[in-house]
Amino acid sequence: QKFVYDFTEGNKDLKDLLGGKGANLAEMTNLGLPVPPGFTITTEACKVYLDTGSEPAPLRDEVSAHLDALEQKMGKRLGDAADPLLVSVRSGAKFSMPGMMDTVLNIGLSDASVGGLANQAGNERFAWDSYRRLIQMFGKTVLGVDGELFEEALEAAKDAKGTGDDLDLDAADLKAIVERFKGIVRDRTGRDFPQDPREQMDLAVHAVFDSWNSDRAKLYRRQERIPGDLATAVNICSMVFGNLGADSGTGVAFTRDPASGYQGVYGDYLQNAQGEDVVAGIRNTVPLADLEGLDQASYDQLMSIMTTLENHYRDLCDIEFTIERGKLWMLQTRVGKRTAAAAFRIAVQLVDQGLIDLDEALHRVNGAQLAQLMFPRFDESTKAERVAWGIAASPGAAVGKAVFDSYTAVKWSRSGEQVILVRRETNPDDLDGMIAAEGILTSRGGKTSHAAVVARGMGKTCVCGAEELEVDTKKRRFTTADGKVVEEGDLISIDGSTGKVYLGEVPVVPSPVVEYFEGTLHAGADEQGGLVQAVHRIMAHADVRRSLRVRANADNADDANRARRFGAQGIGLCRTEHMFLGEERRREVEQLILADNDKDREAALATLMPLQKADFVELFQAMDGLPVTVRLLDPPLHEFLPDITELSVRVALAEARKDPNENDLRLLQAVHKLHEANPMLGLRGVRLGLVIPGLFGMQVRAIAEAAAERRRGGGDPRPEVMIPLVGTVQELEIVRDECEQVLAEVTAATGVKLDIKLGTMIELPRAALTAGQIAEAAEFFSFGTNDLTQTVWGFSRDDVEASFFTAYLEKGIFGVSPFETIDRDGVGALVKHAVTEGRATRPDLKLGVCGEHGGDPDSVHFFHQAGLDYVSCSPFRIPVARLEAGRAAI
Ligand code: PEP
Ligand code: MG
Repeated sequence: QKFVYDFTEGNKDLKDLLGGKGANLAEMTNLGLPVPPGFTITTEACKVYLDTGSEPAPLRDEVSAHLDALEQKMGKRLGDAADPLLVSVRSGAKFSMPGMMDTVLNIGLSDASVGGLANQAGNERFAWDSYRRLIQMFGKTVLGVDGELFEEALEAAKDAKGTGDDLDLDAADLKAIVERFKGIVRDRTGRDFPQDPREQMDLAVHAVFDSWNSDRAKLYRRQERIPGDLATAVNICSMVFGNLGADSGTGVAFTRDPASGYQGVYGDYLQNAQGEDVVAGIRNTVPLADLEGLDQASYDQLMSIMTTLENHYRDLCDIEFTIERGKLWMLQTRVGKRTAAAAFRIAVQLVDQGLIDLDEALHRVNGAQLAQLMFPRFDESTKAERVAWGIAASPGAAVGKAVFDSYTAVKWSRSGEQVILVRRETNPDDLDGMIAAEGILTSRGGKTSHAAVVARGMGKTCVCGAEELEVDTKKRRFTTADGKVVEEGDLISIDGSTGKVYLGEVPVVPSPVVEYFEGTLHAGADEQGGLVQAVHRIMAHADVRRSLRVRANADNADDANRARRFGAQGIGLCRTEHMFLGEERRREVEQLILADNDKDREAALATLMPLQKADFVELFQAMDGLPVTVRLLDPPLHEFLPDITELSVRVALAEARKDPNENDLRLLQAVHKLHEANPMLGLRGVRLGLVIPGLFGMQVRAIAEAAAERRRGGGDPRPEVMIPLVGTVQELEIVRDECEQVLAEVTAATGVKLDIKLGTMIELPRAALTAGQIAEAAEFFSFGTNDLTQTVWGFSRDDVEASFFTAYLEKGIFGVSPFETIDRDGVGALVKHAVTEGRATRPDLKLGVCGEHGGDPDSVHFFHQAGLDYVSCSPFRIPVARLEAGRAAI
């Protein structure tokens, strides 16, 4: 095993071994670009060091051999008294971790060699300044001395000189500072600053190894989801100096603008300086374009190198360079980070330049970037007062007057006001208010709380679980952590992409990409400098490539129409319980629940049936020609009944007044009877259909009659009936018989032959495990991964995210909530099992997913690999699902 690679030996594809920086330095070296010679110690060496506490045995000799070769090439010896070679020791992991790990410059300077450097450079000040920088950096990063001590000493020297500028310190001053710095090292570490250049180098290498496990590096990796076992490489590079005078300098450059993606000259330059001066902001940089006037030759060479790099990497590159006395040196390059808009623009620009094909362009963008482009955003240039930071539950930017109940939300919005509905938590009663509001803010609940799920479904901005806020719905106000009170009618702004809550009105800018999907902005329009065109072209290619179909979770015509505009190929989940809400219907549902005889029950069902049917007619019309999967009633019944406490109080007060209300009394009885400790595991889903006679039959009849009506009207309705929460095939068989009978009756009555598929959701572990049996009675499966995740993990989807998930995320038990991104190993394994078993029983079984995961980028890739036919997600996530399905297929 080889632990050291010369820059001439590596290449850009060896990032695992040489880190990003080392691999790219090698690549540039081999392209013939001016890279200061050097070598890279591999991540494998670092792993051994971190595992065993000492470097691998052969490393020392390998480094010596490479150092010899470097000295030969440079014609100087490391730390030589007469003409020292100096090197930098820089970290470089596979993924860039800016500023997280260590770097030491000017290794090789010592009491003995500082004079040699001064002679060679013809500049005594420069030599002493370089030496003081070495002691400072080495002292801080390698020896662990508090960096403040050096800063203070330097400040003191400047004060004594009556200046604020480093450049006013002369050689004698710097020499004194070096002595002072050496004193600090001695005081703090009990040893002298090492004078042996090789020892300096080895210690610096170990410090870089160690910095992989520094607290800040670990924290950064956790946030960025970079695996902790990659380790860092170490680059040893001969020093070039940007601080040798006005004909020297250092800078950073981009081959295009990383913010917009536009071509042009982007970067900053700092004359007579070393790299860390730029970062430290000691002096102001000038725009890169100014370099042309300062040093035309270097500027021209840099421009030509940038073209070479872009054509070679076929992507935006960022660059660090130094000019030493008019000679340009490349210190680093990499494929640069960019904003979402730039990513789309650059991808299609590169296609047009013939550098990449459309597959590659599709690969270069992702769903998270597209999602970012779809949200209206707060104008970040304005200052606003942030008062809370909750969970970013449903992205977007919303401004409005705070209101604390659904009724007020509806009333105010009808009179033209924009409102934000503020609640401790929401429940199905709040639906009207949520629809009327610009956004929803709750102080309780996580990403799968009612507020979050419903808001995402509607594409409405939502911040939930803002626990710093004390919401008092009775007094119609909330109080912030620092005691500010926001009353009903006060303006607030909420950012569902970040979870931040602001007082007052923050200006919002709309998304042209949404306007394009909505069809109000033409794809050919050069809106946003080609952004819309770029999105259009990449989406078109994703649609060509993908094998997954994309459907919508939608239960009303508005959502269905929007979903269609966004490219939905049907509805994968119509949650019929949403059709049972609203004052009038709720009363009927109450009557259904209260009914204790067939007559009353049938009467309630008969009232609900035409209402349901009318909903379906609209829905089938909106999705004409496309499949619409209608799920029969799923939620526990208590969700349709009044709150137990409120009702108890009402009944008690009435009794006290000696004026009992008969209906309330019966309701209270029913509420008590239906009360469950674990309603999500209780009387819901198929179980309702089995214990409430006629309920599912009524729904199926409404579906069938609606379809027949549409067909007679010349439409092409394609309903599918879906049974939720099945755990065993026996449940499904009984319900299936009932459904088939109803379908036959409707066919007989209407004369319209209906081909309506009957299928089930797979959302319980037992269903997944016995999928082979269940497929006997189901023509399709739709994975309900919300409930499946809940039941596989034993996590209550309504509670855990606001309760202990933060702790789990911090401890790294998972990097992302399993309710957000499918847990491939657990839940995913069950999905795969069910796919295999289901298709074994019924080869033409249709397979889809309709849990929240259907619109999550990573999960979409999993569903593609698992061989599903479609994913179904909320209308606003459809473009993201289309894009990711295309990416998954290339
Ligand atoms: C699911 O459980 O994944 C699902 C889609 O059903 P619901 O979210 O309505 O329970
Ligand atoms: Mg479910």
